[in-house]
Amino acid sequence: TKFTEGLSKTRTAFVERVEDLITRRKKIDEDFYEELEEILIGADVGVNTVMELIEELRTEVRKRKIEDAADLQPVLSEKLVDLLKGEQDASMRLVEGGLSVILFVGVNGVGKTTTIGKLAHRYKSQGKKVMLAAGDTFRAGAIEQLEVWGERVGVEVIKQQAGSDPAAVMFDAVKAAKNRGVDILICDTAGRLQNKVNLMEELNKIYRVIQREVPDAPHEVLLALDATTGQNALQQAKLFGEKTGVTGLVLTKLDGTAKGGIVIAIRQELNIPVKFVGLGEKMDDLQEFDSDQFVHALFA
Ligand code: GDP
Repeated sequence: TKFTEGLSKTRTAFVERVEDLITRRKKIDEDFYEELEEILIGADVGVNTVMELIEELRTEVRKRKIEDAADLQPVLSEKLVDLLKGEQDASMRLVEGGLSVILFVGVNGVGKTTTIGKLAHRYKSQGKKVMLAAGDTFRAGAIEQLEVWGERVGVEVIKQQAGSDPAAVMFDAVKAAKNRGVDILICDTAGRLQNKVNLMEELNKIYRVIQREVPDAPHEVLLALDATTGQNALQQAKLFGEKTGVTGLVLTKLDGTAKGGIVIAIRQELNIPVKFVGLGEKMDDLQEFDSDQFVHALFA
């Protein structure tokens, strides 16, 4: 699967090291746990989560009377699936037979525009009518970049001049989407995390404007996070977090990092589901997040 390919770096850094540890040590003792801890922390699983995981492994090992290190691997993957599953719902909350509005937030460079393009392609392939809104009027080149994706995917992009009011762009876009019977409107926004107050004000204004036309919108607010930044991505998620009304996370560039364990840390530490992961630069390189598939691809 796409997961198997996209997770190869994480697999090398994490699973292969675990396998090496198991063949080398053979017995489960204190040194074994210590080394396992180091490997997990190195994969950016996050210290708290690692501690918890190791405790749970100890309990299982005692309960099942496991002595041979080789028998630990299935227990470890089982525990990882448990950690990743959580209570959160990874499915998208879209309106059937009406307009759904998806808003993207995230700092520059994390892969927001690329993800918007990929998602547009995904929904278009499913036969949906998709439209994009160039709401990042701040960053030079953001509008053009979105237009390039719009052309590539074959969907219309609603835009205004650079520097114009993003809320005005959104207003135009929602109106156009309604008029043209669009199923899914995907909106880009400016990514200025440095200034949280301004960002919140800007987002609130955007929400108000959209809700004037579509009262229950936005249906999803997706925060794009760069997986290659590891624990930094987690910090960004906490900062942007629940206060901005984020309903889901997209973890980009998972193919480019050995620190795929960050998915586990994020699932553990935040109450926001990971909805998609980016596994490459191309149109098709976006996957719905599935904890079983993820762990199976790791141990494949
Ligand atoms: P934005 O500033 O957040 O809109 O970021 P962009 O969409 O322009 O992406 C920044 C860079 O990351 C570009 O070179 C993208 O091709 C690359 N990128 C985005 N998503 C992925 C991904 O899932 N995997 C890889 N390998 N690269 C990605």
